[in-house]
Amino acid sequence: ETYLDNNATSPCFEEVISCVAETARVFYANPSSLHGAGQRSRAEVSRCRSELRDLVKASNYGIIFTSGATESNNLALRSVVTQRMSETGASEASVVTTPMEHPSVYETLAALQGVTVVMLSVDASGRIDIEELHEALKDERVAVVAVSMANSEIGTIQDVHAITAACRGAYVHCHLDMTQVFGRYQVSLNGIRADSVTLSAHKFHGPKGVGALFYTLARPPPTPCTTGGKQEQGLRGGTENVPGIAGMSLALQMCMGHVRSGATERLQKMLQEIKDGLADTLPGVTFRDSSTSTLYQTLSVVLPVRSALLVEELSNMDVYLGVGGCACSKGQYSRTLEAMGASKEEMARTIRISLGFLNDDRDVTRFLRCTRMALARLKK
Ligand code: PMP
Repeated sequence: ETYLDNNATSPCFEEVISCVAETARVFYANPSSLHGAGQRSRAEVSRCRSELRDLVKASNYGIIFTSGATESNNLALRSVVTQRMSETGASEASVVTTPMEHPSVYETLAALQGVTVVMLSVDASGRIDIEELHEALKDERVAVVAVSMANSEIGTIQDVHAITAACRGAYVHCHLDMTQVFGRYQVSLNGIRADSVTLSAHKFHGPKGVGALFYTLARPPPTPCTTGGKQEQGLRGGTENVPGIAGMSLALQMCMGHVRSGATERLQKMLQEIKDGLADTLPGVTFRDSSTSTLYQTLSVVLPVRSALLVEELSNMDVYLGVGGCACSKGQYSRTLEAMGASKEEMARTIRISLGFLNDDRDVTRFLRCTRMALARLKK
């Protein structure tokens, strides 16, 4: 099997699978229970929280463990809009965002009563214009700026330092969805200085259904968007996913080990080989911008044939990659690609290859060999 769809989700590290099982066995008690077993579970959650905070240099942040990026984005956006409306007594607020966001941002904003969405434009490589952001921030109804640091479909990385600085200058909450960044780069949240940040474990070889929302300690904490118990400092009720939290922390630690030992360059080289191989095999193939400000393990390819056909052929040979709008939108249409100026026809010819730390050179060889076979079959 050759799995090249790591931006949709990534396979768990074996060590993480063992850690999740072991944590479920040892720390089975409810962290809210007062007895010794409960205290041990509570201590384990605390240990993971400290470890996670250290790993991403977030001493200025609180951490709410959630079920993943979708919940974290919901919590951050719903909370900041509610807080703004109750502060000002207004029934309306604006949110500045981009067409490159995940549905958990886009659909949440669409669902919020009284929210006007201000959509920034993006250039052909998916980058926003900081001047346009400054302009948008002049409107004092703006309650929050919500931007994903790295886009999942094409890997575009935004200049987050410029974005957070612009927000600070305007006293506007800055929410960054960094789901596609954690585990792939050394990160310092204290350095980036966003007000809230989203993380999801399954994108960095951790378990599914667990994630976090970081929130700055310099502002009031988020307002919960679900009602329940007093867990997570009273900000997110529900018995903690102790095994998931422990697995997430270990996965991030392991990823940072990979990054320190040169995995970034290794994956970059593999992606370049894939690019060269495809260019040799497929006359007319083109690649979307993969400059330095793009995720180093993501490649967006525009094929000379319909992508669904090739992806299906490859899937029959157990080679897996993403098409068009990829897993989140369950189809070929992509708001991201449309905003970058791509036609529907071009979207239908787009594939995404996204590598993870479990890929190696054999995957590259196998992918290129199977692609040649699939194309030969399609020609017939
Ligand atoms: N934001 C981004 C940028 C993503 O790529 C994804 C996952 N595709 C999500 C949010 C949602 O993550 P989760 O599946 O953990 O809810």
